[in-house]
Amino acid sequence: MRRKMAAGNWKMNGSSAALSVISDLAAAHADNTDTDIVICPPAPLLFRASEIARSSAVTIGAQDCHSETAGAFTGDIAAPMIADAGATHVIVGHSERRDAYRESNSDVRAKAKAAWEAGLVAILCIGESAEDREADNTLDIIAGQLSGSVPNGSTGDNLVVAYEPVWAIGTGAVATTAQIDEVHDFIRARLVQRFGAEVGNAIRLLYGGSVKPGNAVEIFQCDNVDGALVGGASLKAQDFTPIIEALI
Ligand code: PEP
Repeated sequence: MRRKMAAGNWKMNGSSAALSVISDLAAAHADNTDTDIVICPPAPLLFRASEIARSSAVTIGAQDCHSETAGAFTGDIAAPMIADAGATHVIVGHSERRDAYRESNSDVRAKAKAAWEAGLVAILCIGESAEDREADNTLDIIAGQLSGSVPNGSTGDNLVVAYEPVWAIGTGAVATTAQIDEVHDFIRARLVQRFGAEVGNAIRLLYGGSVKPGNAVEIFQCDNVDGALVGGASLKAQDFTPIIEALI
């Protein structure tokens, strides 16, 4: 049985005042031992967020890391710094970074490895653009991102794969359950083929792209969906809570 996960990506939103969402979630899910709840705030909030989440059902993640551990990379954040701030997870390869910062599959692979070396779990994002889907290239794109971004040595403990169709992120357009099933089953088959049944079946797969309280139950009925990576609806406890509850 894979543990469920609800991960919230705050993107460039939030403030120290907004961290009350973490205590609200911790209080609402104090008895939840079945689901990993991860909040990924902007980097300046990581330390404080980790303090607030300490000893609760909520854990903290960053939204990106550099592949090097230190050096002349102005504005970047190294994975050991994220761990030092008390976080346990880091998102790598989000489509906004692949797009705006031209991160390649090999960049993302190096970041995932850096995350592991710092003891962090990598939440590695993949997903096709609207053009890829219209051209019927979705599974080819996913196959290329999996082979290019997912490092050797992946396990169910160090890696979570998030399938996020780019056209569904922040748009309100959600993939149909048939589309989600097709891609998640494909990802699972590729992971099993590459890493063997035990490891391939242990790696959790999240769906991301306009997940809301109103559509979460249906999405979570898909066999190979082990949870969600949620943007907008993770900013308020009253929106994120029903999504977490839909997983239980
Ligand atoms: C995301 O940021 O990864 C995301 C899925 O955003 P949203 O839920 O707002 O579509």
